[in-house]
Amino acid sequence: MNTYHFSVGNIKLIVVGDGSETLDEAGLIGMVKPLPDAFLQAYREMPQPYQFNYNILYIESAGERILIDTGNGAEGKPQVGNTLDLLQQEGITAGQIDKVILSHLHMDHAGGLTVGNAAVFPNAEIIIPKVEWEHWLESGPAPAERREILKAVFQPYTGRIRFVGDGDSVAEGVTVVALPGHTPGHSGFIIDSEGQGLLHIVDALHLQMQIAFPEVSPVFDLQPDVSAANRRKVLERIADEGLTILAYHLQFPGLGRVERSGSGFAWKPMG
Ligand SMILES: [Zn+2]
Repeated sequence: MNTYHFSVGNIKLIVVGDGSETLDEAGLIGMVKPLPDAFLQAYREMPQPYQFNYNILYIESAGERILIDTGNGAEGKPQVGNTLDLLQQEGITAGQIDKVILSHLHMDHAGGLTVGNAAVFPNAEIIIPKVEWEHWLESGPAPAERREILKAVFQPYTGRIRFVGDGDSVAEGVTVVALPGHTPGHSGFIIDSEGQGLLHIVDALHLQMQIAFPEVSPVFDLQPDVSAANRRKVLERIADEGLTILAYHLQFPGLGRVERSGSGFAWKPMG
């Protein structure tokens, strides 16, 4: 059960470990197709068993309590879906959350919004990238079955959903950064305060090996070429500007920096 406290200027942050799943070699083969030999080799050199994590970001800025993504939802407990329990241990209840910001609409990020058909966050405004909403719930080519699931998830929040796009401020010191490819509206976030900064890249990458091999996209990247191009671009920016990043699916707490290394980059974990 994991929480990791840190701060960026005046902003208080907690990475909350929603949970973790073991990714074995069969799982990797299912996740990356085709699977380059060098990528498989890099996986084999990682500490085993490889842990595929879900890192939720809790933010306190200018008196507001904010969550970026909600995790898998309590049905997955105890392996995943532990976010609310861990927040509770920190003295933070779901009713105190003012804003829930979603990076994209996959259920390992949005699944914690409801239990049954009831809203988990009774007082929160829900903030969603507009492009993402259009893809899954409006004119986009998303499967009808998924559309129905998402409609049910958002139904109890009717009237308190706000749409945002690249460059929009969603709270004091928190700005949306479009990072499309994993999904059409997938977004990251810049947290900045008092000259300090953090870039939350969320699902711009899923596996630590993609830092060395940014051209490799997993099967669940809906636009794999766009994802690969944006992944390289954001990793170049992170390396050149010396930014600290948070990555949703890397080893808890998912914080670190990257350096240029060969044709890719090297991961320098923190925390
Ligand atoms: Zn994800």
